[in-house]
Amino acid sequence: MSKWSLRGSLRTLFHGARPIDEESWENLEENLILGDFGADASESIVAAVRASVERLNVADERELRGILRDELAERLAANDPTLMLKRPQDPETGRLLPAVVLVVGVNGVGKTTTIGKLARFLTRMRRTIVIGAADTFRAAAVEQVATWGERAGAEVVRPQQAGQDPASVAYQAVQRGIDTDADVVIIDTAGRLQTKAGLMDELTKIRRVVEKLAPVAEVLLVLDATTGQNGLSQAQAFIDHAGVTGIVLTKIDGSAKGGFVVGVQQTTGISVKLLGFGEGIDDLAAFNANTFAQELVG
Ligand code: GDP
Repeated sequence: MSKWSLRGSLRTLFHGARPIDEESWENLEENLILGDFGADASESIVAAVRASVERLNVADERELRGILRDELAERLAANDPTLMLKRPQDPETGRLLPAVVLVVGVNGVGKTTTIGKLARFLTRMRRTIVIGAADTFRAAAVEQVATWGERAGAEVVRPQQAGQDPASVAYQAVQRGIDTDADVVIIDTAGRLQTKAGLMDELTKIRRVVEKLAPVAEVLLVLDATTGQNGLSQAQAFIDHAGVTGIVLTKIDGSAKGGFVVGVQQTTGISVKLLGFGEGIDDLAAFNANTFAQELVG
């Protein structure tokens, strides 16, 4: 048993001895769509599994499970989960700078929790972390990030006054990271969907200001797995405008829809790097294609 599981619709498929026929393919496609793979990915997965079945001359439905698992693992292998956290060098002084990570996403997806978990994930690897609480619009978000940061053993740079410019908090956090020789600076950002254009401008400004001190190493987009394709269209503005380098998929413990990882990677070309599978600080794992395919198909 792994620490998390997807209660995916694919797990119930193809358990009985039954010949493979048209109904098998309809059943598979329907379940892929229910699993939130998206229409395009579902269709192409069915076509690929069909081709394997013909090539391997397989006749029993039960054999479809292994073929499907291999097909999903192969597709997921295009997903590169490596976090780019190598510390860059200051070109003038040769000094090592912290790797800067911006965390973006719509409110409610689990962004704050993810920042706490990510800080913990890294402090456990003996990295020193500074967190910048740059979601200054929500006072509660600042407090929440501070609490998570404390638990994770990270230093938190907060706004000095309510409503302070998010970019200036981000700048101070990176400056603090440089001064303390931190390995990674994680910046929380706002996720108010109502003001999409303003939000994208704010993110651009944060990046511009931060990059006066150090390059941005990763822009992680947090997506809630329970919202599936719908969540992806909500987050499209970030993908289009925020220079996202990786996806963190949260709440996979409560989702039957893990299938959309396959669709996300294929439609956006952005890899899923981390998975969140609970509300606890240790409930974060690096994405692994084989484990994930196994969890999807069972
Ligand atoms: P934010 O608004 O994006 O910062 O979201 P929060 O981090 O405050 O999380 C929103 C809710 O989702 C909280 O109740 C979290 O405990 C919960 N949450 C976050 N990540 C996960 C997860 O991986 N699994 C589950 N089950 N709940 C999560």
